[in-house]
Amino acid sequence: MTTTPLTPQTPLTPQILDTRSTPDTDLFRHLTDLEETRSRQLQALSGADLDAVRSARRARAQRDLQDVRTALARLGEGRYGICTGCDRPISAQRLELRCWTTTCVDCADRAAR
Ligand SMILES: [Zn+2]
Repeated sequence: MTTTPLTPQTPLTPQILDTRSTPDTDLFRHLTDLEETRSRQLQALSGADLDAVRSARRARAQRDLQDVRTALARLGEGRYGICTGCDRPISAQRLELRCWTTTCVDCADRAAR
């Protein structure tokens, strides 16, 4: 089963937040903090006159923000930590390093190729 990823333009409304069941509130808080940080980074990198470095930073922030939002949505669905690519559990080590990741190492490698 795959989940339609939320776009960076999708705002996290109080309604969305209220309907989430949050088994792990620390993780939820951490992810919402990350969501806020990435949103701010993205706003700081707006404008049409970005150089190549800032454009790359913006693209990266956009990807990260989308992953954070997908992770939040999956947390609410009770599917946090399950790979969106292969439906297998993501390793605890990987989630410790990148708590917002939505794919296992194998699927991430495949996507990077
Ligand atoms: Zn996978």
